[in-house]
Amino acid sequence: MPRRKLKTNFHIDVDSRTKDMSLDALRCRSFGHSWEEAPTPYSRRVELAAQGQMEEILVCDRCASTNETLRALPSFEVISVRRTYADPKSYLVPPKSGRLSRLEAHKARMVRLRMV
Ligand SMILES: [Zn+2]
Repeated sequence: MPRRKLKTNFHIDVDSRTKDMSLDALRCRSFGHSWEEAPTPYSRRVELAAQGQMEEILVCDRCASTNETLRALPSFEVISVRRTYADPKSYLVPPKSGRLSRLEAHKARMVRLRMV
């Protein structure tokens, strides 16, 4: 059930770029992704190991974003990182509109949840 809106004597400006973002996306943008490790299939591990590489796949429990890091073996140095978003429209601000700060995501989340 939605919370009742508080009566306040101030106005909170919410960044309009957050209007199409999902609540989960705002949560991840506010306090970071909830990463879980995902297994790399055995055949892929064999293929990569033959090239002196391994891959680490993380999936966010909340927004299903993924973070794939390719590492050189045996040093484990990072070769590349690839980030994907399950639903970029709901996660990212419009292209070329600048960066959304953590504070703005936090503010938008608090207002949407009617915490203030
Ligand atoms: Zn996330």
